[in-house]
Amino acid sequence: MTTTRIVVVEDEPAIRRGVCDLLRASGFHVTEAPDGARGLEEAVRVGVDLVLLDLLLPKKDGLEVLAELRKIRPTLPVIILTARGTEDDRVRGLKMGADDYVVKPFSARELLARVEAVLRRSVDRPAEVTGAKLCHATIDFQRREVRWSEQERGELSETETAILSFLVAQRTRAVSREELLTRVWGIGGEGVETRTIDMHVARLRAKLRDPSGKDTPEAILTVRAQGYMAGPDLMPMDSANGKKK
Ligand code: CA
Repeated sequence: MTTTRIVVVEDEPAIRRGVCDLLRASGFHVTEAPDGARGLEEAVRVGVDLVLLDLLLPKKDGLEVLAELRKIRPTLPVIILTARGTEDDRVRGLKMGADDYVVKPFSARELLARVEAVLRRSVDRPAEVTGAKLCHATIDFQRREVRWSEQERGELSETETAILSFLVAQRTRAVSREELLTRVWGIGGEGVETRTIDMHVARLRAKLRDPSGKDTPEAILTVRAQGYMAGPDLMPMDSANGKKK
């Protein structure tokens, strides 16, 4: 089973701890964020499945976080954590695309039920891709390795692996350089230039060419004016047992 990743954005330490402990005890992978700016940074990272978002937050309030998040990840599930008597905010949150809300104080059972319901109907959860196949090469994202044969293996850097796994997970569409920047480097990647991405992609392409000189199909396509896309021969592999999907 794959681990579901949840980001909890809540500034009150006691509530944050309570929610995080509860989610961890239920088997979720949890990241905590004590303010809105940090929350947004964590929420846009690759692999996040759900965000629990308080509305009254320091640095960036919850509705602002939601608005910015919707621009970057339009379908990422968000549940608003709200205090009683703030119906206006709750309604605004739902209008801005939050999936549900929970009113504080909430019971553990209620929160878990909402989390599970929202995750069930989420469309933003592609099955976790742990590797890919390109003809006779097997790419293992966890080991950051390309295997051409038992003897012949190549290494991928952390950044190359992040770019490649993201392109494979999104394989039916082209991904812009800006989106790659946000998803691979996070919001903190603002100082990174888009040509840095081109450099990483060029290196990736070189590493995904058969070292013995045999013809290999393009692993990554350049889509004019749009960005990059996984080539049709780059097939995702299942997390469970490395089988082709
Ligand atoms: Ca708060």
